[in-house]
Amino acid sequence: MKICNKCLKSKSEDKFRNDKKTCRQCEWRFNQRWLRSLVKERKLSPLERLSNRLGYMGAGFIMISPYLLPDAIGAVTYVVGGILSLPQVWVAKQWNLVVVNLNVTFGYLIYLYSNGI
Ligand SMILES: [Zn+2]
Repeated sequence: MKICNKCLKSKSEDKFRNDKKTCRQCEWRFNQRWLRSLVKERKLSPLERLSNRLGYMGAGFIMISPYLLPDAIGAVTYVVGGILSLPQVWVAKQWNLVVVNLNVTFGYLIYLYSNGI
C-alpha cells in the first residue's frame, strides 16, 4: 500500500506508475497532465556537471577581481575567471554570456598587455 500525494488516499502498489508518488487516477487529470507536459525531466550529463563546477570557480574569480584590481593580480583573476566560466555557458549554448566572458578575458588581457605586465 502506498499513499498518493495528491488525493492522500491509501492505494495498492499497482495504482501507481514506477517511482511515482501520485496515483494513476490523479495523474490522469487534465490539469496535472497538462502541467507535466510542460516540464522536461532530465539529469545533467557529466560534461554539464563538470562545466558547472568550473563555472562556479570562474564566478568566484570574477567576484574577487574588482577588489584586487589596481594591482596586476586583479586583472589576472579576471582573465582566469573568464576562461573558467566559458565552458558552462558554452555547453548551455548561452551565446550572449559566451561573448561576455570572451570580452572579459580579452579586455583584461589587453589591460595587462598595455600596462606592460
Ligand atoms: Zn491520487
